[in-house]
This record gives sequence, structure tokens and C-alpha cells, in this order.
Amino acid sequence: MNSTRCWPPDSPMIRYALICGDCEHEFEAWFASSSAFDVLADKRLVTCPVCAGARVTKQIMAPSVKSPKKAASRSEAERQVEAFAAKARDHVAKNFDYVGNDFADEARAMYYGETADRPIWGATTPEESAALAEEGVPAAPLPKVFTPKLPKQASTKRKLN
Ligand SMILES: [Zn+2]
Repeated sequence: MNSTRCWPPDSPMIRYALICGDCEHEFEAWFASSSAFDVLADKRLVTCPVCAGARVTKQIMAPSVKSPKKAASRSEAERQVEAFAAKARDHVAKNFDYVGNDFADEARAMYYGETADRPIWGATTPEESAALAEEGVPAAPLPKVFTPKLPKQASTKRKLN
């Protein structure tokens, strides 16, 4: 009853702003959890991309200030995000059934036990998605970067009514 229907299940990653204790280079990296960072840092596996020093610590989070230095590290973070997003898209494409515009109906039918539970993704109108939320039907917006290409057969199949 509590399954999330259109969100890749293993998606949460935490972005940390890091700073090198040796050269004070600031950079960003993604970790599965706070403890994942701690374990890697403990083993001296989190290293500075500039001097390769392993005395890397988390920065105190602060409002981001635009500077050329930050822009450079952001593109590295973006590259990592894109790699991660590609995996997420792949996961959705392989494991989730594309139901197109029938998403709201399908999600509702599963929620009320009318059809068997299965992972699906598809499209809703803002009205449909508000109605699902109101009824307590579990569904989450799929970020655009995690959205795979529409399956060919589904994108050409149009409802004839
Ligand atoms: Zn350094």
C-alpha cells in the first residue's frame, strides 16, 4: 500500500560541499548518506581534486555565492548528477511500465486493489495529480532528468475516442 509508483526507489543522494584541509580548495561531491561520507573520509578515500590531500571535511552550508571557483566545481557536480540521472532513467525504463495518460486511472485502480500492484510511470494533468494527492494515492513527480524517453509503441499509440 505504501509503494511509491513513479520514483526510482534507490534515488536519494546527498550533496556535500567539501573543503580541502591542505589547500583550501572547495568542491562538491555526492554521497548516499552522511555515514557513507564519514566511512569514506575515515578511510582517507575522499580526496581533494587539486592536491589529492585526504584531509577533506564538510563545509558549513551557506547561501551559495557566485564566483568563478564555484562555477567550476558546479560543473563537476553536474557531471556526476547527469551520470546518476542516466542510471535513474535506465532504471525507470527497465522496471516501470509506461501507462501514458492513463497514469491516474492505473494508480487509482492499484490503490483501491482493483488491479495488481506494479511499478508504473506516466503522465497526469495537474487536476489529476491534485485529485490523487487528495485521495491519498501514492505518486510522486518524476523529475525531468529522471524521465526516460517514451517507449516507441506507447508514444505512437493514441486513444481513439
Ligand atoms: Zn587540496
